[in-house]
Amino acid sequence: MESTEMIKIVNLHKNYGELEVIKGINLEIRAGEVVCIIGPSGSGKSTVLRCINRLETPTSGTIIVDGKDIMDSETDINHVRTEAGMVFQQFNLFPHMTVLDNVTIGPVKVRKISVTEAEKLGRSLLEKVGLADKAKNYPEQLSGGQKQRVAIARALSLKPKVILFDEPTSALDPELVGEVLEVMKQLASEGMTMVVVTHEMGFARDVADRVIFIDKGVIQEDNAPDAFFSNPENPRLRDFLGKVA
Ligand code: ADP
Ligand code: MG
Repeated sequence: MESTEMIKIVNLHKNYGELEVIKGINLEIRAGEVVCIIGPSGSGKSTVLRCINRLETPTSGTIIVDGKDIMDSETDINHVRTEAGMVFQQFNLFPHMTVLDNVTIGPVKVRKISVTEAEKLGRSLLEKVGLADKAKNYPEQLSGGQKQRVAIARALSLKPKVILFDEPTSALDPELVGEVLEVMKQLASEGMTMVVVTHEMGFARDVADRVIFIDKGVIQEDNAPDAFFSNPENPRLRDFLGKVA
């Protein structure tokens, strides 16, 4: 395996009972790459992300993250989740914890660093996402955009090798989308490996190194953003872009 390869998915299949959702996906993502995934609702985008950090167990296929086979019984699932952070559409913050505690609990529990050290790290991450002044607030006191920026800081707190974003701006009021995309853009420019399921075509066009179209459980198109948007080859993608653009 090439040393720059961060994620390798080989012939991934996922069924829910009789329902075949993922029907043979192959995907390689290099370190530092930003890959956006688009596609119709129900096409399996979330399922692919959830398989990468083992929130779902693949039916068959192989997923290697940073050189480790995540299905291997030797591989610690907590290690997999530490390496691949996740940011959800609905934020999933711990509601009974302060913003600072939300971003320090992972490092303390999983990485076993001291509370003092975790708070130092947590405060620097809140600073990074522009929320240093909200450390002692609770999630319910924040706007959706602020909550999502906390969720990104929390994902970063475990020093992941890759961050998986599942429609991170889909639950936000339109005027709050920009502040979250700005933080993601910053991360991308710092070289973070990112897989982003999104409907934000502007973000995909500007920030992604590659854009992937998933439909009917397979990758229908995988291309650089320019070619992807200006000259889509797949008829289903042309149809999809015609509806969303
Ligand atoms: P997307 O993120 O592209 O909208 P999903 O990956 O969430 O699509 O879902 C793909 C298909 O799998 C849908 O038909 C959905 O209803 C089904 N599905 C997702 N999760 C489950 C589950 N836990 N149990 C049964 N079916 C599921
Ligand atoms: Mg989804």
